[in-house]
Amino acid sequence: MSFSVVTKDELARIIAKKDCCRLAELAALVKMDGSIEISGNQRLGLSVVTESAGVARKILTLIKQFFDHNTQVIVRRKARLKKNNIYQVKVSSAPGIRDILVRLGMLDEDGQLSEKIKAGLITRTCCKKAYLRGAFLGGGSVNNPEGDYHLEIITNKEQHALDIAGVMRKFDLSAKVSTRKNWYVVYLKESEQIITCLNVMGAHTALLDFENARIYKDMRNQVNRLVNCETANLNKTVDAAVRQLECIKLIEGLVGLEKLPKSLRRTAELRLQNPEVSLRELGDLLEPKAGKSCVNHRMRKLEKIADALRAKRQY
Ligand SMILES: [Zn+2]
Repeated sequence: MSFSVVTKDELARIIAKKDCCRLAELAALVKMDGSIEISGNQRLGLSVVTESAGVARKILTLIKQFFDHNTQVIVRRKARLKKNNIYQVKVSSAPGIRDILVRLGMLDEDGQLSEKIKAGLITRTCCKKAYLRGAFLGGGSVNNPEGDYHLEIITNKEQHALDIAGVMRKFDLSAKVSTRKNWYVVYLKESEQIITCLNVMGAHTALLDFENARIYKDMRNQVNRLVNCETANLNKTVDAAVRQLECIKLIEGLVGLEKLPKSLRRTAELRLQNPEVSLRELGDLLEPKAGKSCVNHRMRKLEKIADALRAKRQY
């Protein structure tokens, strides 16, 4: 199962303790996935569609709690994608449905369609959290933390997208809104922000999984960086040693190492005998011992002598 599905499963099972939060969450779910149906005799109905059984169950439970209305659930199998069912929760047209639609913010007080979050619905912090949970359940997804960090909520209502981003900002989340075809996408990109958002919505198990995956990923990146760094250093050491050996052999062949000052001669001989060791190790082998910079200095001298010999040979 994807991380998104696991997170939604966890969130779908949460039933808020307080009525204010339950109504806020229902309003979000209906705003995200609901549509108003008008029957032949101009009577209104409400239909909410979701692909998650858990979400459908939640919508049904909440609607029944707040509204004494005929509700109906229709399960359909998606034509092409075999595994996903589609659940449609229908609130049949009946007197009083208009009030329900107004309370949930689908219609404003004048009976006009409204994209905004209804004023007063999410004044409290507890309700803002519940609203985000509902919005995420209605149209959210979150990437597997092993990949790129990304959490989004998509809606076809621009004002609603802006409102959701506004609610997120109340929790110090720097939500951004972009468009994708006819959709508006509210999204978060940073791991810290996604963790905060999961926490706000109440997805605590998902949050822990996300944290673990992130720590593991950071550690793996760090190890890779170290390995790359060491490999790079090792390559440098090997390249330098090869160059030094070439120079020393050139001097040996053209003039003989015995012509060199004693300290240089000894260093050159030890390098020939120990082609694989580092400069520091080479310094330890010398009598008396020499530091890395001193050995480095002698190697430079040897390279200079070799360069001079090469230059001479060309004329
Ligand atoms: Zn509340």
